[in-house]
Amino acid sequence: MTTVLTPASPLTAADRCDRCGAQAYLRIVLTSGGELLFCAHHGRKFEPELKKIAVEIQDETGRLTTTPATAEPDER
Ligand SMILES: [Zn+2]
Repeated sequence: MTTVLTPASPLTAADRCDRCGAQAYLRIVLTSGGELLFCAHHGRKFEPELKKIAVEIQDETGRLTTTPATAEPDER
């Protein structure tokens, strides 16, 4: 089980996936001291491997499914 720590610095639109260049939603801090950035797709894909080499996984993929605050009260 990997502990997901509270983000120290939120990922921004300037952070890009190391594999495909899409906006990054995961930051992986490696035991070696390096950092990797992944989009939600590649974060999921490499998650099993990343958990072996990461000391911290900053997961902001939850922002992708956040319900808009502008939901209409009478949507029915
Ligand atoms: Zn990607």
